[in-house]
Amino acid sequence: MTQTAPPRTFADLEPAGLEMAVTCQKCGHWAVIDDKAPKLRNQRIAGRRYRCAQCGAIGLPSLGTRRLAKRLAER
Ligand SMILES: [Zn+2]
Repeated sequence: MTQTAPPRTFADLEPAGLEMAVTCQKCGHWAVIDDKAPKLRNQRIAGRRYRCAQCGAIGLPSLGTRRLAKRLAER
């Protein structure tokens, strides 16, 4: 059993306590990927391109500790 296996799909992020955020290199827009979206859940994380929702430029993905989940739990 490997508990530290890297997440392969977006569905793997939540159990790992991780989230994917994308930072736009052009306008600096920052957004967390909605890994609960049915379309994304079974998608592989690697090899994807991320686009800024604001300007359409290529965004830089980064894995981080989950913050969104915390925010949602507070409601
Ligand atoms: Zn942008």
